[in-house]
Amino acid sequence: MRRPFIAGNWKMNKTPSEARELVGELKDMVSDVDDVDMAVCPTFVAVPAVVDELEDSDIMVGAQNMYWKDSGSFTGEVSPQMLTDLDLEHVIIGHSERREYFHETDREVNMKVRKALEKGLKPIVCVGESLEEREEGRTEEKVAFQVWSALSGVADEDIPEVTIAYEPLWAIGTGESASPEEAASTIDSIRDIVEDISPGAEEKIRIQYGGSVKPHNIEDFISRTTIDGALVGGASLTAESFAGVIKKC
Ligand code: PGA
Repeated sequence: MRRPFIAGNWKMNKTPSEARELVGELKDMVSDVDDVDMAVCPTFVAVPAVVDELEDSDIMVGAQNMYWKDSGSFTGEVSPQMLTDLDLEHVIIGHSERREYFHETDREVNMKVRKALEKGLKPIVCVGESLEEREEGRTEEKVAFQVWSALSGVADEDIPEVTIAYEPLWAIGTGESASPEEAASTIDSIRDIVEDISPGAEEKIRIQYGGSVKPHNIEDFISRTTIDGALVGGASLTAESFAGVIKKC
C-alpha cells in the first residue's frame, strides 16, 4: 500500500517570518493526522526557520530546486548537501515554472534527479503537458518522454524513492483542474512507463496530481487508487486551506 503524500509548493511566496508563522499554525491543525505523508517546500531562505518550527512535527520539509553539482563556482546555486545538512528530505525537480522561465531541460532534470538520490534526497519530479499538446492528443507522449528522461540511469532500487507529480500546465494556478478521470488516466499511463523502466516499481512509486488542488476537490483525486496525493501550490499558502487538503485525504 502506498501512503498518500501531500506536498505544498510555496513557490516565491512567504518571507522567513511569514513561513514560520504559517507552519506554526499548520502543525497544530494537522497534529492528529497520522496516515498521510505531509511536506512543505518553502524558498531556500525560509527553510531554516521552517525546519526549526517543525522540529517536533511530522510535517517534512522539502526544497523547490537544487543544482546538480556538489560545490564550486556556480553563483546563486544551492547544492544537495546544503539541503541534507538542514535535514531536508525532499526536493522538487523540474517544476514547469523552472522548465519554462529558467529553461531547465530534461537533461538537467535527469542530472538533478540522479544527484539528489545519490545524496539521499527524495525527488518530486514534475511532468505535464501544455494545453496545445493536450489539444493535439500528445499528452501521453509528452509525459512518457519526460518520465523516461528523468529516470534515465536511475538504479532500480532508487526508483521507489522518487515521487512523480503529474501537473498539466494548463491546470497550474488557473483554478481549472484536470478532471479526476483525465488525471487518473494519464497517471495510469505514467505507471505503465515506470513498469517498462523497472518492472515492479510501478506498484511502489508514488504519483501525485497537481494543478488547482483545493480542499473542495482533493477527494475527487485521492479517491482514485492510482493517484497517491497532490502537489499543492496556491492552496498551500494558508494553514487553513493546506490543512483542509490534508484532512480530506
Ligand atoms: P496550484 O500549483 O495548486 O496553484 O495550481 C500547483 C503547482 O504548481 O505545483
